[in-house]
Amino acid sequence: MANENKLQAIIAHAKEYGFVFPSSEIYDGLGAVYDYGQWGVELKRNVRDYWWRWMTQMNEQNIVGIDAAIFMHPTTWKASGHVDNFSDPMIDNKDSKKRYRVDHLIEGFAETLPKDQGDALLADMDRLIAGDDFAGLKTLIENNKIKCAVSGTCNWTDVRQFNLMFSTEVGSVADESNTIYLRPETAQGIFVNFLNVQKSGRMKIPFGIAQVGKAFRNEIVARGFIFRMREFEQMEMQFFVRPGTQQQWYEYWKEKRMAWHMTLGIPAERYRFHDHVKLAHYADAACDIEYDFPMGFKELEGIHSRTDFDLQSHQEYSKKKMQYFDADLDENGKAYGNYIPYVIETSIGLDRTLLMLMSEAYEEQDLSTAEKQDSRVVMKFIPKLAPIKLAVLPLTKKDGLPEIASELMQECKQHFKCFYEEKDTIGKRYRRMDAIGTPFCVTIDHQTKEDQTVTIRYRDSMEQERVPMSAVRNIVQQAINE
Ligand code: ATP
Repeated sequence: MANENKLQAIIAHAKEYGFVFPSSEIYDGLGAVYDYGQWGVELKRNVRDYWWRWMTQMNEQNIVGIDAAIFMHPTTWKASGHVDNFSDPMIDNKDSKKRYRVDHLIEGFAETLPKDQGDALLADMDRLIAGDDFAGLKTLIENNKIKCAVSGTCNWTDVRQFNLMFSTEVGSVADESNTIYLRPETAQGIFVNFLNVQKSGRMKIPFGIAQVGKAFRNEIVARGFIFRMREFEQMEMQFFVRPGTQQQWYEYWKEKRMAWHMTLGIPAERYRFHDHVKLAHYADAACDIEYDFPMGFKELEGIHSRTDFDLQSHQEYSKKKMQYFDADLDENGKAYGNYIPYVIETSIGLDRTLLMLMSEAYEEQDLSTAEKQDSRVVMKFIPKLAPIKLAVLPLTKKDGLPEIASELMQECKQHFKCFYEEKDTIGKRYRRMDAIGTPFCVTIDHQTKEDQTVTIRYRDSMEQERVPMSAVRNIVQQAINE
């Protein structure tokens, strides 16, 4: 399936089967804001929980979690650099009035060129962005005759910076001193709580603090479904290390995070690392883990060596010491003493992860035979992440079959998410479960009454097997634990 068509098919499927709906759709939606439906929310929760367990429980490093508020003292965002620096270069087309992010505009054009020319153009762009050379960027756009997709003209304004933070007021009086921001990243909630956690948890460096939560960015060009949203969820971890060891920990977390991705059942070649050319104001090394979305390889997760920039800056603005006392001895037998730790950050978008999982799982299959036309859409989620693990389906609504099915439901629903359905033919019920990615369906029929066996049907192979009803829970549980 062509890539653009695939994204459209996923968007339509996500809506039809209760994964993702446009926000406030009855009022025609709100740009780049989405709601998760009944199965989307389960999938999201499974991914969030898995990331959380992997980071804070299964990890060999000492990592604890927090849940900081979305609203923070406004000085936080002065200290972090977001008030002054969290902006993207934008350009408007004077005829259509449409606004573009400069990098997106040039990247889109580069894709239409032969590869070597496109690469050369992108290298020029990276160099100009790195030098904050806005006049140069405008000239690059004009020299390449890059046109607006709406007006078809090259009539551009100058390139300007545009801050991406949403602001609002606390209290009843609207004046500037009451202005606060919706956090554009969850990381700062971790930095301002660094000492609280370190002291109350008696944490010893190196250690990490993890957080999952909403972040808000007034994205100018928001497209790509849940890839780029104005309200989204991040799963972030800041790992505090001794100064001078950051390079080694940066490499460590690059490898570890890729190892996590390898547990999601997605082939390695669908991922790649992309090193940053232009480093953010806080970083001394940074890369992205990119995934091959239907729109091509794009950032899914960022891994940043943030130096001591944030803690240093919070110390300066708050006038509170952000130091850690390290009693360990160096090679000369002297305690390392007081220092501001360096930080390695891993930051992944939960919504982007869902788009990745849905893109990877979505498959349209032609099952036609000589006798009849047939097809299905199947979402091949791994059992651990699938919204529903088991569907329990009595063959008919009578003869005591629903009662037996409900016994199995009672047993299994304590342990994992199950779904019960008795309406329609078994074939139709299987198809609906395929469409939402349920890995196992169990049918209870008349034979069950005689020998306590059931038919278990496997989503991917569509094979069916007769097994004792008492074995079902274990079969599903084992697949979830894999
Ligand atoms: P991009 O270059 O795509 O705008 P970014 O480099 O600004 O992303 P980070 O600030 O590193 O992103 O944020 C970490 C992660 O948060 C990203 O890798 C991405 O998965 C997620 N993320 C960032 N912005 C959005 C958004 N607008 N919608 C959904 N997820 C997002």
